[in-house]
Amino acid sequence: MYPAVTLKKERIKNVLQGHPWVFSGAIQRLPKIKTGDLCEVYGDGLFLGVGYFNANTDIAIRLISRRKEAIDAGFFKQKLADLKAQKERFVHNTNAYRAVFGESDGMPGLVVDKYAGTLVVQWHTVGMEKLKPAIVPALVAVFRPESIYETYSAHSWKIEGEKPKQERFIFGEEKKETVIKENGHSFWVNVAEGQKTGFFLDQRENRQSIAPFCRGRKVLNCFSYTGGFSVYAAGAGAAVTSVDISEEAIRYARKNFELNGFDLENHEFIAGDAFDYLNDLEENKFDVIVLDPPSFARKKIQIPAAIRAYTMLNSKALEKLKDDGILISASCTAHMDELTFIKILHQSAVNAGCALKVIHVAMQPFDHAYNLHFPEGRYLKFFILLKTPM
Ligand code: SAH
Repeated sequence: MYPAVTLKKERIKNVLQGHPWVFSGAIQRLPKIKTGDLCEVYGDGLFLGVGYFNANTDIAIRLISRRKEAIDAGFFKQKLADLKAQKERFVHNTNAYRAVFGESDGMPGLVVDKYAGTLVVQWHTVGMEKLKPAIVPALVAVFRPESIYETYSAHSWKIEGEKPKQERFIFGEEKKETVIKENGHSFWVNVAEGQKTGFFLDQRENRQSIAPFCRGRKVLNCFSYTGGFSVYAAGAGAAVTSVDISEEAIRYARKNFELNGFDLENHEFIAGDAFDYLNDLEENKFDVIVLDPPSFARKKIQIPAAIRAYTMLNSKALEKLKDDGILISASCTAHMDELTFIKILHQSAVNAGCALKVIHVAMQPFDHAYNLHFPEGRYLKFFILLKTPM
């Protein structure tokens, strides 16, 4: 059906065991194919799957199916219907969730977030984007959205060796702003001008988990974006200070407080650098500090610098936090494992001259579940810690 690529016999193990990537060094025989073309993959006399090819990247092929089948609208319709059922089985109390999480959902290079009636499709690879004519009708048939907006991951696209294209609505009404519901709270999501696909759905359960620690407390939310953790804290009766470097994010944080009926007078909104804010902050002002910074390392080589930045940030927050206060600290840096983050938290406590008790540990929610066949999909680390004397 598709051109056949043969792998070196000694390099098929990972693929055979379920990993979706074929590295260029594993290929023995390549037919005449171009970047983005579909191909059948064989090795040691076995059929291994159907995937798409990229001539420019170390990851030469990403497998989409383990069966000899056509990768067309019918294929995607089935796949998306299965994923929708799977996600809706586990994700409750919201009308927003990650419908497709790339490799972890068997759809390499594709992310789809559902925000009420709006779908945001994010293309990470040339090969997946080339399948757009099959994917979009399948999304429409399965999700019956009011609109679909397409975006390109600038980071992935650079690795792919291509320039990202213009982001735009590709289906339905051109509605940039939409309101989503999450655990009884409402949020404005701007799919066209927001960061990532518009909202950080991956912290949904973690936002929920902080509420009991925020009741009647003074809470500082650093890297607040549009006020995700802040709204949950305010909902629990906290007085919240939200800090984010993006003025647009802070404008939305205010809008979200209004949307949920909170009095803006009781809360503070600061467009500024969180590192500077923590530096200038007086001690003992806050009972709870939330740190949810953006990824500090895109590549493995940046990990040592990322470790220094996380340590500085957490140390500073701990110095300023009340003695029996709560530190809520997250890391979305995929190249950094949980143990490294625990060591960072420990070092930060040492630097601040305090001890930390681990109250709650979490990761990505169900709709961002990573697959054990694809450990690269595990990225979010989330800790709730109690500051105590040494
Ligand atoms: N906790 C948020 C998501 C945070 S994303 C939620 O639940 O929705 C990380 C945020 O950090 C982004 O909004 C980005 O604008 C902000 N940011 C990046 N660098 C920053 C800095 N130096 N100081 C403050 N905010 C920063």
